Formats: sequence, structure tokens, C-alpha cells
Amino acid sequence: MCGIVAYIGNKNCKNILINGLKRLEYRGYDSAGIGILIKSCNKNAESESHEAGLERNRLEIKVVKQSGKINDLEKLLEGQEVEGTVGIGHTRWATHGQPNQLNSHPHYDCSKKIAVVHNGIIENYAEIKEELIKKGHKFISETDTEVLPHLLEEILKTDPCANLLIAMQILLKKIKGSGAIVALGTDYPDELIAGRIASPLIAGISKDGNFFASDMPAILEHTHDFVVINDYETVRLTRDKVEIYNPEGILIQRDVFKATWTLESAEKAGYEDFMLKEIFEQPYGIRETMRGRITNGIFNFDELELDDDKIKNLKKIQIIACGTSYHSALTGKLVIEKWAKIPVEVDIGSEYRYRSPLVDENSLFIAITQSGETIDTLAAVKEARKKGAKVMAITNVVGSTISRESDSVIYTHAGPEIGVCATKTFTAQIIVMYLIGLYLAKRKNLLSEDALNGFINELEIMPAKVQQVLNNAGKIKKIADNTYRHTCFLFLGRIYGFPMALEGALKLKEISYIHAEGYAAGEMKHGPIALTDTKTIVVGVIPEDFVYDKMLSNLQEVKARNAKIFALVTEGDANTSKYADYTFEMPKTFEELYGILEVVPLQLYAYYIAKNLGRNVDQPRNLAKSVTVE
Ligand code: GLU
Repeated sequence: MCGIVAYIGNKNCKNILINGLKRLEYRGYDSAGIGILIKSCNKNAESESHEAGLERNRLEIKVVKQSGKINDLEKLLEGQEVEGTVGIGHTRWATHGQPNQLNSHPHYDCSKKIAVVHNGIIENYAEIKEELIKKGHKFISETDTEVLPHLLEEILKTDPCANLLIAMQILLKKIKGSGAIVALGTDYPDELIAGRIASPLIAGISKDGNFFASDMPAILEHTHDFVVINDYETVRLTRDKVEIYNPEGILIQRDVFKATWTLESAEKAGYEDFMLKEIFEQPYGIRETMRGRITNGIFNFDELELDDDKIKNLKKIQIIACGTSYHSALTGKLVIEKWAKIPVEVDIGSEYRYRSPLVDENSLFIAITQSGETIDTLAAVKEARKKGAKVMAITNVVGSTISRESDSVIYTHAGPEIGVCATKTFTAQIIVMYLIGLYLAKRKNLLSEDALNGFINELEIMPAKVQQVLNNAGKIKKIADNTYRHTCFLFLGRIYGFPMALEGALKLKEISYIHAEGYAAGEMKHGPIALTDTKTIVVGVIPEDFVYDKMLSNLQEVKARNAKIFALVTEGDANTSKYADYTFEMPKTFEELYGILEVVPLQLYAYYIAKNLGRNVDQPRNLAKSVTVE
């Protein structure tokens, strides 16, 4: 999920790798490392024997890695002789195992003759690891990645016809999950071998050598000539060639494309802002978060680690969160209560910690924080644990404070989020809420197999549905272009649409600085309707669900008071447009799951309004990415 840079050429590669990693720093990461093919140094070169001479010419892979910043890695490298023209580099965004030195990449095999860097998640790493341990392999890290060099080693050992490229091709067939993988081997000093499944990887070509990179910025100062690598392809990169092999292992031709991007636009993958890039990354973040939890219709969420007794006796779930995470908590409440029939209370961290909450041992406490550092949520967790609660944390950052201060952790895998306001981490949290609701219902036998499978299958195609919404971003932009001058925005929704109305209003406030309110549509008549006039835009979240008619009445009420209406509707809804000034159609889904489709156009709407107003959407005023003050 983070960054890769690799080089083979005629230059010394240490600085190429370090500078490349620095170019990837903007993405956020928790550790970094490099591995360079070097000649073994022999201190007694003058009096060396024949064997020692051979030893001196032996190659080894020097790995230097460190948790923390690239500067720390540079300091570690100071004074170390690391001369070599073939090397791999990595910035890690931990998914499996703490962000410490041991878990940083590159990882070795047993003999240290192979080193690997990897971005992504190996879903079936535990099974592979177990098999390899039986065959005598020894592992030293907690990562999923470490199985890769060991697997390559094992394939090379058992298959006399294999070379590193063939081993990578066999490996890609054995692993499940996602990965951009680059391997370096002492027995293959004139090549780098890569494989790709669902994680970004490109090759770069220059007269001084060739590159692999997860993103263009890493190597843009050396080349503008790139070759795309697709899923399940493997690549042999030499000093003067890029050989691409298709999933059947057949050598194929691929055109080189010339990138015209500047460094700045490349960092944002061509998007104007990180926020927009991250909005568009949501199908990926959703898929990654479901990875290993839903696979080809099979639902496995045993990582919740709740035994039968605990589930049977579960009387209440308490969810704590702040800001955007609070809105995912509200969605959690709705689906858990509906599917698993367990009462759920949701509270804001800063309120919970000061309100003498009652905790009993038959309740489950869930804390949601994107950064894992939100001080109010952490304080609420402390308070609850003091009173005997078992706390399960949901966060996007492995090794964050909450992951250490809770009894268990469920990670969202949205990848690093740079824009200050949460977008892709929110939809990833929503997915986890759905999974918890479905899992508890399954364990309590409250959903028929058909119903459960229906939801699971629908979730599997959800990334495609979110993509469908994103493909129509231009329509949202037009609506924003027509409405951005309004000064009052009311977001209305009911039931599953209500948390999304709150989130839509929050996004707009955060980045456009326009006053916006999110309201349960039924509450309109109890106050806010007094605000509506010609300057008001009412954003109505009105999917095709059991409260559709009620929502429609609410929209007519504000229409009668001269507000302009922008309605999010289900495709094929010909009715709402009779009252709404603007509509945007979402694909059909289950009532309980509409939220994830609704929030995406609302994020885009806030974004385009803010852009019309010339705001800095990535760093809105007065806001910070992780809120570490009370
Ligand atoms: N899953 C791997 C790990 O946790 C790779 C993480 C990444 O993509 O940076 O080490």
C-alpha cells in the first residue's frame, strides 16, 4: 500500500533509491528500507587464500532498514559502504505487524540470497507460512510479506528448472491477495524480477538503467519513459531491457508511454488535489478492506475473536468515535441493530469520557478512529477499560496508539490518506460496520443463508458500483457549479441516509467554510424549516427504500418554501425529479447498503463547491489530520 523503487543500471544505486523513496514521502509511511547487491568485503584481502578470493567476489544483499523517516534511514547509512548498481527500496504502510525495524522491508529468505519488497496484502500468508515452517523455513518478522522470499527460495530449491523469473510466476499463482513485488537474488545479479496483482507497479526506462516504481514520482527525475505492468504479469528487468511476461508466462510486447506530468501532478496521479485522488481511490480502499474477509462469496471475519458465550450474552454494543468516524458509528448502529438485534449506543469521544457511563461485562465496546491517535477517543477508551470494558478498535493505522491501548484491533485498509478530511477511510469504516453487523447476525443465526449470501455478493460488487458513481463525477461538478454561491445548505436523510446527510454537511463545512447542517429529515419541521428560503439548498438523500415516501414529502415541504433541491436518487426514479431542481442517480443496492453509494457524490459535491470558491481542500483552515488535542 505504500511505495517501491528499484534500479538496475550502471550507476551506484544507493542515492537513486533514497531519493526515490523521498519522492514517495508525501504519501505517508511508517518505515523504509533498501537492499543492494554488493560484493562481500574481505578485510584480509592482501593475504587472501584462493577460497578467500572466491569469498571476496561473492555477492551478498546488503539490507538497511529502519522504522520512521527516510532521514533516519539515511543517518543509518552514513559511513556504511554500500556500493552497488542493483537495488530495491521500500516505504512501508504496515498492514501485518507493528511498524518496527524487523518488520520493515526488504525481507530475506533463509539463506539471505533473495530479498523482496512488497506493497499490498497476502491474504493466505498464514497457510503458506505454516507449510514453509514445516519444511524448515525460519521466520523473523510478523509480516505477511516475509513468506514471499521464502516461497521463492523453496520453489528454486525444489524445481531444478526454475529461475527467479519462473519462481515469481509460480509464486503469483500460489498467493491470494494484492501485491506489487520486486525480488533481487545474489544468483541473478543482472536482473530484478517483479510480479503484480492489484497493486500499482510500473517500469521506467533510461539510458543509464531501468527502474521499477509503485508511482511515477519516485523515478520521474530519471525518466519520462514508462511501461505499464498489469495484473498477474511478471517482469524481468535488466540494465537494458524490460521483458514482460503474461499470466501464462509468455513474453509479450508492450508500448512505452511518455509521461508529460510534472512531479507535482504525478504525486497526485494527475488529480488536482489529494482529496480528489483519494475520493477516486475508494473502490480500491473498499476492496482492500474486504480482502481476506470476503473472498468469492465466502465470508470470514473470525478476527473479531468473540467466542460463542460472549456473543450469546452480548446485551449491548457501545461505539465511540469523533467527527467523520462518528458517522460511520451511526451506520454501524443501524445495521447491527437491524441484522444482529443487539442494542447499540453511539457516543462522541469527548462526551463519553466525562459522562459517568455505565459499563457492564456483557457489553462490547468499539472505538473508531481513522488515525488511531484521536485524543478524545483514546480518553474514552481509557475510561471504558478502567471500568472493565473490553475494547475493540477500528483504525486505518497499524501500530497507532489505539491499536496498543485496545484489547483487539480491526484494520481498515484504505491506505494512507493525505487530504485532511476523511474520504476513503470513511467508506472503509462503513465496510467494517457492515461486516460486523453481518458477522454477528451470522453467529446468532439471525439471517438466512440466502439473505447473508445476498449481502455478501452485493458487497463484493460494491467497488464496481462506487466506480459507477465516480464515472459520473462530471454531473456532480455541474450541480456544484450551479449552486456554489448559496450560503445555507441543509442535508436531509432518513434512517441509513441520515448519517450520510450528517457526513455530507460536515464535508461541505470542512472544506468550503459554508454553513451546512445535516438533519434527520423528520426533524425539519421542528426547527430548521424556518431557515429555508431562496438562498437555501436542500440536499435530499432519497434512495429507493421504505422511507422514500416520507422523504419525498419532506422535500416537497422545503420546495414550498422556495429552497432549491438537489436530490440523490436511485437510478430509474422518475418521481423525485418532479420536485428536485437537480438529481443524481445512484446504482440500485440493498436498503441497508445505500450509505456507501450516497456518501461518494456528497464528497464530490463538497469538493467541487470548495474548488469553485478557491479553497485549499487538502489543508482546510483550522483542521488537522489527527486530532491530538482535547
Ligand atoms: N503487508 C505488508 C506489510 O505489512 C506490506 C505493507 C505495504 O504495502 O507497505 O509489511
